[in-house]
Amino acid sequence: MKKGDIYHRTLNVWSNEHQILQTVEEMSELIKEILKNVNRKQNNISAIVEETADVEIMLEQLKCCYNIKDQVESYKKDKLKKIEKRLDEWEKAHGK
Ligand SMILES: [Mg+2]
Repeated sequence: MKKGDIYHRTLNVWSNEHQILQTVEEMSELIKEILKNVNRKQNNISAIVEETADVEIMLEQLKCCYNIKDQVESYKKDKLKKIEKRLDEWEKAHGK
């Protein structure tokens, strides 16, 4: 079973709207754990690992809901090129 098949299967069992809201819920759980770690200096790496995985799984489903997987990939590719260019310029300006 491919991971992509599992993401599509979830949408057959639960509605798109439910999974979209679940994505938001998982993102809020990750935000909460990051804030505990940064603001309260809590050692909660295992919770951050869990919530990061939850968010990544939900983002895959979100892409299925909106049928935007290829567009996201294309945007990410372009964005990473821009980031790389900015890094190259910064490192050149700072003698790195
Ligand atoms: Mg979670």
